[in-house]
Amino acid sequence: MKKINHFINGEEYISKSNRFGDVFNPALGEKIADVSFANDKDVGVAIASAKAAFTSWSSTPPLTRSRIMFKFKELLLRDMDMLAAQVTEEHGKVLSDAVGSVTRGMEVVEFMCGVPHLIKGEFSENVGRNIDSWSMRQPLGICVGITPFNFPAMVPMWMFVVAIACGNCFILKPSEKDPSLLITLGNLLKEAGLPDGVFNVVNGDKEAVDNLITHPDVSAVSFVGSTPIAEYIYHTSSKHNKRVQALGGAKNHMIIMPDADLDQVADGLMGAGYGSAGERCMALSVAVAVGGIGDALIEKLQPRVQALKVGPGNDPEVEMGPLISAAHLSKVKSYVDSGISDGASLLVDGRDISLQGYEKGYFLGGCLFDNVTSDMQIYKEEIFGPVLSVVRSDNFDSALNLVNDHEFGNGVTIYTRDGDTARAFSNQCQIGMVGINVPIPVPMAFHSFGGWKRSLFGDHAMHGMEGIRFFTKLKTVTSRWPNGIRSGAEFIMPTMK
Ligand code: NAD
Repeated sequence: MKKINHFINGEEYISKSNRFGDVFNPALGEKIADVSFANDKDVGVAIASAKAAFTSWSSTPPLTRSRIMFKFKELLLRDMDMLAAQVTEEHGKVLSDAVGSVTRGMEVVEFMCGVPHLIKGEFSENVGRNIDSWSMRQPLGICVGITPFNFPAMVPMWMFVVAIACGNCFILKPSEKDPSLLITLGNLLKEAGLPDGVFNVVNGDKEAVDNLITHPDVSAVSFVGSTPIAEYIYHTSSKHNKRVQALGGAKNHMIIMPDADLDQVADGLMGAGYGSAGERCMALSVAVAVGGIGDALIEKLQPRVQALKVGPGNDPEVEMGPLISAAHLSKVKSYVDSGISDGASLLVDGRDISLQGYEKGYFLGGCLFDNVTSDMQIYKEEIFGPVLSVVRSDNFDSALNLVNDHEFGNGVTIYTRDGDTARAFSNQCQIGMVGINVPIPVPMAFHSFGGWKRSLFGDHAMHGMEGIRFFTKLKTVTSRWPNGIRSGAEFIMPTMK
């Protein structure tokens, strides 16, 4: 059986810990590797390696760091097919989607190629007579990232690319469900010229995470995953005096106004509801049909959900791959059961799917519910599977209230042809990322990604200028050169006269 180890100080590191996790190919439903689970000693080795690299890396000119980013980008392009295949093998998403997700990570690399400009400070001449002042942004030190299974390439790249380009050293603890890719990325960074110890991968579970987020040498913790764990990471890391950003779960709504283009709506809901088997934090899981448009929407949607092509992600004809694990498949199925017992109408039932040659795979066909109400469990909780709920709403105000009353605030979109409605909605919704006739409003690398409410704990979103601010600290220098003027000791706050 293949063993997945760790990547520390520029090379594979083999732990003496005898704890392992199982890694599966979800399309086949077969175990394909053992991933080593790090203990406190392994975490200590990674931290020592990052610490040793920091002095030199943080004083490496930003232009040199930028050239390593350029080279890394070239290597990502060179190896794109191999990287995407690795994502598909362990995660299950279709290959074209895997390429898209690695590409969205690569766009963060492209953004950070501009690091000399991005971290430029500010300068003021004569803040007092013959006194100048400037501010600059400096790296924090050792930063830690903890990432979820659903984007094994993109989400880690939101973090470590920004952090290391800004001059930090980084330790990543990827999801134990699909960890292989991170070792590959570590080797590509090395090939791009990144010094040993600047980027490290420590595999593991809660034990590794707890050792990392409480370690006195760690300055910042960046987390993406489910809300209960995000909240735990936020509180524990803050208690240990770390800077922390912790992004959590979601329940993203599409508001469909009566004047919307229903073909465009159906296209948007199919891709964003069922793409990646609904395992995206920006997946649309609730369609709110406003003002009597529900029947017409169902008429368009139902046959398309029934016709969804489900199968292994490496089949180019397939639109939706399997779920990540047997446990997750049974959890999503139990949500479908709860929708039925709560009284929602299950119009398309994907529970009994069986694929020839993939009978053990973790497949679920697309599921579509109508007449879902806000008191039902399938409305309140994140399902993270290919289950779309249609909620009927009388008017714009009640649709807006649904969105604003929900505990999550990651993404939302409104489909309408009316500019006033779109503007009122984008202005009044309590959500971090808003689409107008765009199904998955994921901000590009040069903007920032982050939700509101219980979808993000902390002050900073990921990448863009928010990412630069998170991974750097501000220093302001006020300077006067001796010029022969001596005014003697001053005992008052300096002010301009
Ligand atoms: P998860 O919370 O189970 O795991 C995320 C990470 O936390 C993993 O590395 C895991 O090993 C670690 N972890 C799990 N339990 C832990 C514990 N008790 N203590 C310490 N660490 C622990 O999430 P997942 O199932 O891998 O990913 C799916 C979730 O991630 C969904 O809720 C999804 O919405 C969310 N997500 C959010 C965003 C976003 O940007 N907001 C992006 C992607 C995924």
